[in-house]
Amino acid sequence: MSINIEFAERLKQLPPYLFLAIDEAKRKAIAEGRNIINLGIGDPDTATPPHIVEALKKAADDTANHHYAFDAGMPELRSAIAVWFQKRFDVSLNPDNEIYPLIGSKEGLAHLPLGIINPKDKVLLTDPAYPAYRPTIQFADGKITSVPMKESHGYLPDLKKIAEIKDPKVMYLNYPNNPTAATATREFYEGLVQIAKDKGIILVSDMAYSEIYFEGQKPLSILEVEGAKDVAIEFHSLSKTYNMTGWRIGWACGNETLVAALAKVKTNYDSGIFQAVQLAGIAALNTDEEEIDDMRRMYEERRDCLINGLRSLGWKIPSPMATFYVWAKTPKGFKDSMETAAAFLNKADIVITPGVGFGKSGEGYVRMALTVNKNRITEAVNRLSKII
Ligand SMILES: *Cc1c(COP(=O)(O)O)cnc(C)c1O
Repeated sequence: MSINIEFAERLKQLPPYLFLAIDEAKRKAIAEGRNIINLGIGDPDTATPPHIVEALKKAADDTANHHYAFDAGMPELRSAIAVWFQKRFDVSLNPDNEIYPLIGSKEGLAHLPLGIINPKDKVLLTDPAYPAYRPTIQFADGKITSVPMKESHGYLPDLKKIAEIKDPKVMYLNYPNNPTAATATREFYEGLVQIAKDKGIILVSDMAYSEIYFEGQKPLSILEVEGAKDVAIEFHSLSKTYNMTGWRIGWACGNETLVAALAKVKTNYDSGIFQAVQLAGIAALNTDEEEIDDMRRMYEERRDCLINGLRSLGWKIPSPMATFYVWAKTPKGFKDSMETAAAFLNKADIVITPGVGFGKSGEGYVRMALTVNKNRITEAVNRLSKII
């Protein structure tokens, strides 16, 4: 006799999945063989650079790499991260206790709440935000307070309002931002670190897009700000920089106690990253900067192609300075972001992401990813010229 199996309460409490209807329509369209242009997903379409793939192949042949890895990662990987960080941000990190490799940054972001949040602790989450944060805060019984980000404020939370919030324990930040493509200013980070110190707030910075920037304007790490290491942990990823989303490798760094809390949770959940992937990660961190520049130029050309094309149709769209996303108000004549996404799919075979999926403040906007080539972007603009 079968027993009555139900999902646990913590799963039942998760909000309904907003993209369900759009996902189903997309699957159906693909199954019907329609020629879909997918501007929906944030997954680079170009290949991992060959020297990284070669490093993996070589390492996979070495039986020394076939065993359980150290939880804390190979010392060589932690050193390579420290060297990279120093060069990129002029911040020194101790590879022994201020850096912790992850099975992708999402993994670390998801496990951190279990190490630092007690039931009912107040967690500040920007709205809109990358959807992966919310469920994991809820799994740790944290209480989420939404901090709206407004276009008029450069999508940076209002520091005065944050200073007025009673007893916040943790705040999440993500610059360059998914979905809005906004970047943080030094003044914002300085002000926030000061408030965090005054009020005892832990800052969790997600910097998955640190290397996807345009016109030479390098995004800042929060750890560049004086005193940030007293309050902040920052998450980095090889996924977007080196086209390695499938490989699962990233790291957390910053405050020693926060890194230790995450490490302690992780030792109870996983057993580290496949060593061959760690060695490939070292090869990735040693990639010629010129190669990364080529990638930036590629996204920049796509950005300009999409934005100039859509502007010529009368759709006002700001030009992002980082990430591979374009975030825009829904075009005139469309009721809301869901209706826009549905119309683009049904009438133009184009997949985009409705802004409301990133939170209430995302309503009225849509996100388009620059992860298809220029010909497809031109084709997308042509198709849209018939419906907007
Ligand atoms: C892609 C993405 C991540 C996840 O990166 P992984 O290292 O592949 O887990 C984290 N944060 C944001 C905002 C992202 O867009």
